[in-house]
Amino acid sequence: MITELHCHTTASDGVLSPPALVELALKKGVEVLAITDHDTTDALAPASEAAAGRLELWPAIEINCSEPGPYEVHVLGYFIQSDHPALQEALSKLREARQGRIGRMVANLNRLGLPIELSDVQKFAHGPSLGRPHLARAMVDRGLVGDVNEAFDRYLALGQPAYEPRYSLRPREAIAVITAAGGLPVLAHPGLIGTDQFLEGYVEAGLRGLEVYYPMHDPDQVAELLSQARRYGLLATGGSDYHGPGRSELGQVQLPPEALAALRAAGGR
Ligand code: AMP
Ligand code: ZN
Ligand code: FE
Ligand code: FE
Repeated sequence: MITELHCHTTASDGVLSPPALVELALKKGVEVLAITDHDTTDALAPASEAAAGRLELWPAIEINCSEPGPYEVHVLGYFIQSDHPALQEALSKLREARQGRIGRMVANLNRLGLPIELSDVQKFAHGPSLGRPHLARAMVDRGLVGDVNEAFDRYLALGQPAYEPRYSLRPREAIAVITAAGGLPVLAHPGLIGTDQFLEGYVEAGLRGLEVYYPMHDPDQVAELLSQARRYGLLATGGSDYHGPGRSELGQVQLPPEALAALRAAGGR
């Protein structure tokens, strides 16, 4: 069964609208789709309407969290009750903080001598969840950088001169709110963040899975993550983190059938 369990739409920082993403998924033969937009579940209804039963759509979310250090830690939630009040309240607070933060980053860029305005960024944001990729695309559009990667590497990434922190949840808080909404909290792309030191604490807080299969995880990382998943009794998940043409292909990452079956069972599907 072909799956795509990690991808983004225009509701957050993906480039395809929810219906367009569903059509692409169908074209790629995807049978189970989970849209994991950052801090919003707005894609779910239009995607579900577009799918019209042609594929299985799992309600999901990705919450970008932080740890002092600082680290960016992303927590995925599968099978969430998307209209859960505590979840929606938390997400709406996070989206509000995203707006203010991008405003501060635009000001930082201006101080660095780069001419760009919030209205430039808004041209690239078609949904409720504003992110650095929208700012990066606006910078490319204005000819300030050659591509999105350069925007992150020189200005926007953690540690770069235009970076600004924002209010975010600690991973254990995201784990709690996803659990309260009936979802399964999963640590996203652990290989990118070096979260080994935190893992035990997350498991104690209720983490249920690790995103073992991911485009940027090499075979050694996959093996290490599988062994961690076994050690802590965690589910193994995987997805492409598709945002649009470029970094990865929709449906590029598949999980072994037994991992999919375990995830389904844990989610009561
Ligand atoms: P934000 O949600 O505003 O903190 O932005 C984080 C998002 O930016 C991540 O979820 C990625 O989708 C994206 N991102 C991070 N680093 C890069 C990069 N080097 N190139 C392109 N996109 C990136
Ligand atoms: Zn993203
Ligand atoms: Fe992520
Ligand atoms: Fe993602």
